[in-house]
Amino acid sequence: MERIYLDYNATTPLRPEVRDAMMPYLTEAFGNGSSIHAYGREARNAIDTAREQVAELIGAKSPSEIVFTGSGTEADNHAIKGLTELEKSRGKGNHIITSSVEHHAVLHTCHYLEQRGFEVTYLPVCRYGRICLEQLRAAIRETTVLISIMHVNNENGTIQPLAEICEIAQAHGIPLHTDAVQSVGKLDIDVQALGINLLTLSAHKIYGPKGIGVLYIRRGTRLANLVHGGSHERNRRAGSENVPAIVGLGTAAELAKQEQNAYAAHLNNVTQRLRDGLDKHLSGLHYNGHPEHCAPGTLNVSFENVEGESLILRLDMEGICVSTGSACTSGSMEPSHVLAALGLPPRLAQGTVRFSLGRRTTAAEIDAVIAKLPKVIQQMRTLYRG
Ligand SMILES: *Cc1c(COP(=O)(O)O)cnc(C)c1O
Repeated sequence: MERIYLDYNATTPLRPEVRDAMMPYLTEAFGNGSSIHAYGREARNAIDTAREQVAELIGAKSPSEIVFTGSGTEADNHAIKGLTELEKSRGKGNHIITSSVEHHAVLHTCHYLEQRGFEVTYLPVCRYGRICLEQLRAAIRETTVLISIMHVNNENGTIQPLAEICEIAQAHGIPLHTDAVQSVGKLDIDVQALGINLLTLSAHKIYGPKGIGVLYIRRGTRLANLVHGGSHERNRRAGSENVPAIVGLGTAAELAKQEQNAYAAHLNNVTQRLRDGLDKHLSGLHYNGHPEHCAPGTLNVSFENVEGESLILRLDMEGICVSTGSACTSGSMEPSHVLAALGLPPRLAQGTVRFSLGRRTTAAEIDAVIAKLPKVIQQMRTLYRG
């Protein structure tokens, strides 16, 4: 059976152009970027080029503000732990503001810091997952050392009011970190214009390889290190560089910038087709992304009167590869923290599917989903016991 991949927010396939760019560095150009001979210089040049490509994508002032990490998760950890632990040790405060819908890389880092003497405010969100700026202002304390709010949510695609959040942070002199893993390549992001201090991105969400991420660190932002050792990455992150992955990320970043408008238009197109198809064939649907502020390509839908566990199994049997809004923990279906933060009742959260579309998604694939999914949902509803 043909499989239909609609889970691009989880990961994207490597682009052939990216693989081709990486290949020499997996073979003959194997040098260590720290060596001063020709092999080393070859690797170093490739790393420098990639740093420029990434700086260009997010509007960094200088490539030296780009630090390569082992993942988006590591970049989130580095930003949050690195900044707050240093500020706390300098007696500046121990309070962090974040939101209740962050990726686990941010949320669990904050939970960890709470065990270590920090106080964290998790801002609530509206029905569609946006924070309220008034609540952000009200949460700020004398002791607030960091605000960390994601740009685009990975589950429902909702875009946070980043420009306004940055303004508030700046007005109070508080550094701002944003997890932009789901927005780069889809939305404009300019770290200089916005005044962002720290920004996270990840290669495998933009058709690059897994296991490589970036932390943008605005010049002058003070940060403790997570990984100690050699003097790589300007003493920010020790360890011999993953040259092939860095080259892949650089190429993916350049392509993402070049193609951003066309990519967003394609995503809007196929996503609208999916939504129209669902609306035509089904009732009892709830869309969980923000009606106005939603990134292209993500459609998060709750189906009424559908049992969560069988939904996952049925969709997989039909070859439809999507994510659901619940995780099976100890035999019961737990709604994700994001759906819980939206205030979705657990019964509705159970019947939630995240469709995330991408470069290879075609109208024919969407039509195939529309030919199968409504039948599956209707069958499941006749069996639903509540
Ligand atoms: C995927 C993702 C991450 C984690 O990135 P990895 O490179 O997989 O560690 C962090 N934040 C968001 C919003 C993501 O979607």
